[in-house]
Amino acid sequence: MNERVKRRIDEWDDLAGQTIAPGTSQDLDLRIGESYSGMNMTVPLHVRRGIEPGPIVFVTAAVHGNELNGTGAIRNLIRDPQLELVAGALVLIPVVNVLGFDRHSRYLPDRRDLNRCFPGSRVGSLAKRIAWRIFDEIVNRCDYGIDLHTAAIRRTNYPVVCADTTKDTIREWALSLGTEYVVKGRGPRGALRRQACTFGCPTVIVEGGETWKVEAGVVSVFESGIRNALAQLGMTAPTAQQACKSPQTIIQKARWVRAEHGGFLEFHVQPGQRVRSGDPLVTVASLLGRGEQVMRSTMDAVVLGMTTLPATSPGEAIVHLGDLSSAIQVS
Ligand SMILES: [Zn+2]
Repeated sequence: MNERVKRRIDEWDDLAGQTIAPGTSQDLDLRIGESYSGMNMTVPLHVRRGIEPGPIVFVTAAVHGNELNGTGAIRNLIRDPQLELVAGALVLIPVVNVLGFDRHSRYLPDRRDLNRCFPGSRVGSLAKRIAWRIFDEIVNRCDYGIDLHTAAIRRTNYPVVCADTTKDTIREWALSLGTEYVVKGRGPRGALRRQACTFGCPTVIVEGGETWKVEAGVVSVFESGIRNALAQLGMTAPTAQQACKSPQTIIQKARWVRAEHGGFLEFHVQPGQRVRSGDPLVTVASLLGRGEQVMRSTMDAVVLGMTTLPATSPGEAIVHLGDLSSAIQVS
């Protein structure tokens, strides 16, 4: 942890052995190790520098190798000739966990979760070493970060920013993306965004949609969030800013509603929908439609996420609700 040395802006000449001059962009391969057969394993990334000095921002996706909505968003940004930086630099990594991605998996081949291994270690496990390379080469150069995720398998999320809103700089960074909801939370120990924040690089995650998909609606929220954040930092022309949701809502408390009974599910809500206390969320019944039980919301809330599997056993998480009564409105 103490191995982190904050790099300077003018150290771009040693990023993956390449020089990135002001006003240019470049594709790079960051070497992260070797495969069983001795082949080089690399993470492809794209760097853009503005002419003027300014903040350095990283945007990462697929730290969980099967979460691809962020990959879709980053690829759109890389291929957008209109995305011109006037200042600072942008590091875009469409797939961080290339080993998981190749296997259609959230995890690394050793079953470790890369997003529990940051800031990593030069001499640790495979996961720790990969985390170290990403942290040392990328995060340590950056002033801000955005890490893109989806819901876990068999779930979907309404696209929201998750951030440690108890810290002013992180809260401002989170709100600058302009999403309708920001959900309070530091993230688990070893998560990229939590460790980046600990090391002085305010970082948020944006989480939306499902695994193994590139969903147009989710990608659009991710993209506009990134563009808004860059415009707010003065890295792009102010005209690059997109319409923000107003007011924005900071969700302070969220909880999963779990099934009491097993059976087949009929959904009455969808992600992003607001519900009042007492509103029906899901009906559970047998395969023959007998013994219907209606699960209801116990609070005024927004549906942040839900299962996509239309069947459950007792105790399974069905609907993730963000409490609106304790939420903060920001206009
Ligand atoms: Zn994830």
